[in-house]
Amino acid sequence: MKQYEFWFVVGSQSLYGPEVLETVAKRAAEMTEKLSAVLPYPLIYKVTAKSNGEIREVMREANYDTRCAGVVTWCHTFSPSKMWINGLADLQKPWCHLATQYNLEIPNEEIDMDFMNLNQAAHGDREHGFIGARLRSPRKIIAGYWQDPQVQQRLGKWMKVAVGAAFSRDLKVMRFGDNMREVAVTEGDKVEAQIKLGWQVNTWPVGKLVEKMNAVTQAEIDALMDTYRASYDFATDDLETVRYQAREEIAMKKMMDEEGCMAFSNTFQDLYGMKQLPGLASQHLMAQGYGYAGEGDWKIAAMTAILKAMGENGNGASAFMEDYTYHLAKGSEYSLGAHMLEVCPSVAAGRPRIEVHPLGIGDREDPARLVFEGREGDGIVATLIDMGGRMRLIVQDIHVVKPILPMPNLPVARVMWKAEPNLATGVECWITAGGAHHSVLSLDVDAEMMRDWARIMDIEFVYINKDTTPEKLEQELLLNDLAWKLR
Ligand code: MN
Repeated sequence: MKQYEFWFVVGSQSLYGPEVLETVAKRAAEMTEKLSAVLPYPLIYKVTAKSNGEIREVMREANYDTRCAGVVTWCHTFSPSKMWINGLADLQKPWCHLATQYNLEIPNEEIDMDFMNLNQAAHGDREHGFIGARLRSPRKIIAGYWQDPQVQQRLGKWMKVAVGAAFSRDLKVMRFGDNMREVAVTEGDKVEAQIKLGWQVNTWPVGKLVEKMNAVTQAEIDALMDTYRASYDFATDDLETVRYQAREEIAMKKMMDEEGCMAFSNTFQDLYGMKQLPGLASQHLMAQGYGYAGEGDWKIAAMTAILKAMGENGNGASAFMEDYTYHLAKGSEYSLGAHMLEVCPSVAAGRPRIEVHPLGIGDREDPARLVFEGREGDGIVATLIDMGGRMRLIVQDIHVVKPILPMPNLPVARVMWKAEPNLATGVECWITAGGAHHSVLSLDVDAEMMRDWARIMDIEFVYINKDTTPEKLEQELLLNDLAWKLR
């Protein structure tokens, strides 16, 4: 991951005189130092802005500095917001308005008019909020005491989202072959995706990949086999099949790295010259942070990479997922997610096993794949669909459970979950919104983060949670449709 940082711009005005402004600057420096110690990325104090010129300058610098992933603003004192119009109109980086206060409490004896004139975030941040609203600026607003761990956690999560936005705008997706024939939901407008989300989505022939595979050496395969042994248990004696996956992985990684791609898709319908559908190969690439989705689904491949980038340490617990089968017994209702092969081991409960089994689809040799159960925890599933003229991001809250059945004959990785508000209503809502069967399942990116990401990228956001009903959702989708058509 790139070394990103965030800029802290504190609003004020010259009216206060140098003494107050010095205090503001000193406190802002103290705050960034303490916050940087607990946030996932450094927060750099840039300026106590007192004029239109200073604000424009710092916002333009932010736009052009590739390390700067976003700007955090706060008004310790009152900062007349017409000064901010030009700078904010120019700002192209994600913006968070941290509506905080230097002091935790109102001091009883100490409070007088001097104190009031220095500590006026309560009205300074309202003036600041007005201009954000008046400009219709997409911004994150976080209110609360800056040393409150919950406030710090939310600011940290927003930083990860902003990094996800920067990652998205740089993202290149490598498509091996086209989409699976006749499937609708994996289609989409690649030009629209690039305009809105920044993705450069292009295709490379499978024949090029086969050439690259043929050039992989035994020594390269030996080295990757050692890596496999260090991370996974071998539950097969068929080492030649595993070595073939290693060959595929090495070739795909080389092609992606040469082009700077961080996501890829392929399809079982176009494996010309390949003996196996990549299974273990795709899974281990995902474990390294590459996004993937099957059947040519470049949208979910890109989203997998982005959610990973937004997760812990820039490569979190997010996996390409597909809804497969339901357990519909009353009071014990679960979804079972899996894929033909390619579920990322970042969501595994234990050490994954490498197994070799036949694949009933695609007309190739039995491929090696990682088999595991998903680990328990609160999470989301997220999918992105093309509504024609706009992208819609759909996110649902879920709770991953230990699978209630061992399913010993299921030869793929599996994740079982309970969905909000419950299985049947959740399915009705998901289907009403047009949600795909492909999604990204995440255990460390939450719905608030996805909402923030959708706001930054300027795409529609639909959230299915414990309070969602089909009636409310239908109404929301109707209004969304009208609003997006007017834009
Ligand atoms: Mn699929």
